[in-house]
Amino acid sequence: MKATATSPAAQLGGVLPGNRVLTGGHAREWASGTGAEAVLFPQSAEEVVAIVGAAAETGTRLLPAGRGSWLAAGGWGREARVIVSMSRMDAVAHYEPADLTLTAGAGIGMDALADMLAPNGQWLAADGPGCDGGTLGATVSCGVSGPLAPRYGRVRDNVLGLEVVTGDGRLLRIGGRVVKNVAGFDMVRLFTGSRGSLGLITRASVRLFPLPAADVTLRFGAGNAPEAVAKARAVCAGAVQAASVEVFGGDAMAVVVRLLGGAEEVREACDRVAGSVGEAPDEVLSGAGSEALHRGRLGWEAEADARAGDSRVVARLAALPDRLGRTVECADEVAGALRGRIAADAMSGLVRVKGGCAASRVDELARCLGSAREAMEAGGGTLTLSEAPRALAARVGWTGTEGGEGGIGGRIKALFDPDSVLAAGPP
Ligand SMILES: Cc1cc2nc3c(=O)[nH]c(=O)nc-3n(C[C@H](O)[C@H](O)[C@H](O)COP(=O)(O)OP(=O)(O)OC[C@H]3O[C@@H](n4cnc5c(N)ncnc54)[C@H](O)[C@@H]3O)c2cc1C
Repeated sequence: MKATATSPAAQLGGVLPGNRVLTGGHAREWASGTGAEAVLFPQSAEEVVAIVGAAAETGTRLLPAGRGSWLAAGGWGREARVIVSMSRMDAVAHYEPADLTLTAGAGIGMDALADMLAPNGQWLAADGPGCDGGTLGATVSCGVSGPLAPRYGRVRDNVLGLEVVTGDGRLLRIGGRVVKNVAGFDMVRLFTGSRGSLGLITRASVRLFPLPAADVTLRFGAGNAPEAVAKARAVCAGAVQAASVEVFGGDAMAVVVRLLGGAEEVREACDRVAGSVGEAPDEVLSGAGSEALHRGRLGWEAEADARAGDSRVVARLAALPDRLGRTVECADEVAGALRGRIAADAMSGLVRVKGGCAASRVDELARCLGSAREAMEAGGGTLTLSEAPRALAARVGWTGTEGGEGGIGGRIKALFDPDSVLAAGPP
């Protein structure tokens, strides 16, 4: 890549008409939390190829984006001088309700998609944190799943095909748009979750599901974390396959069980879950009430919990579900230090902690997060930060010991983006 001192907007100007380029304060406002000096809005894969070519030519770092709601996470946004937003590439190319498949531009909103599918009694069962307000491309690129994954599959299980412009400017069409597909190296899974480090996703084909007829949520109170974990594990071990089983902690602990399916099936499941826990639920929500509760939970990480003046911190602790008790214990200690709260997915074993960090407490919190990470890694788990002030992230590291430029992630990036035109490193 040739280096140059000209502004990236000037370097890449001319690739797109001026009305699809933001610069200066408008760019900084659109892509807050990044170092972006320009935001480009291509309308076709060919325009994306041209942008990548111009970026390679002029030594300009790019960051792919959808609506720009989660660009600061991971710290890569600060490396990017130009953001390439797919938000104008939002057309539905193919929708076959009978096949339960859909192909659309990466920039289509997950909200628009849900509105379009609901009249046909269908949905894309993606419930990763924050995904409802984002784009399809970002959902695939982040590849982050939510508590419904054991029932409906992870994001990567439901992406059938992708169109991608790689960091070295190739336009790839991988996978297909039907559920049964050709065998071979599974590039679709490689790009799903690659977080914009290998290429810019321009289009995606996904598997859909019928909307369940009944949606019921049972809430059981618990006096402390071990009691909540015991109740959650009793539900997981019971005869009913719940759609999700979560533990929420903060001021009060609660186990939240969601049941989806036919009306009769869900009615029976409610009784069986209460039997597994050994008590009646404290609260029962059904239909729109249940759906709204879980939709609201998608924004759990973003809800302002940090005290005034503190920077937000979000950590994710993951280990096998049979280690849930230990993971919740570690998370509870971190939550105490961050003066925050936890949300645990009992079926996957993932526990999220959110709280705040005052500038004066960086050393203390770095030590706490460091020892929690050691404890998690000793049991084969991980602790990653998805949000943190720069000083804390620099002390703790975003991801711990795994990955890195020299690891397998770095070697794969070199195959698709050898000149690091794309700002994001291996996830
Ligand atoms: C509160 C909250 C919590 C979240 N927690 C997590 C989390 O823990 N882990 C996680 O992975 N995600 C997380 N996300 C991201 C979320 O899952 C969605 O993917 C995101 O909200 C999508 O929004 P967007 O379209 O604005 O994406 P953006 O904010 O524009 O992009 C999000 C990420 O996806 C990449 N990206 C976007 N579009 C493309 C594309 N077409 N091709 C290639 N790369 C692309 C970007 O480079 C960036 O890294 C969170 C979001 C929110 C709001």
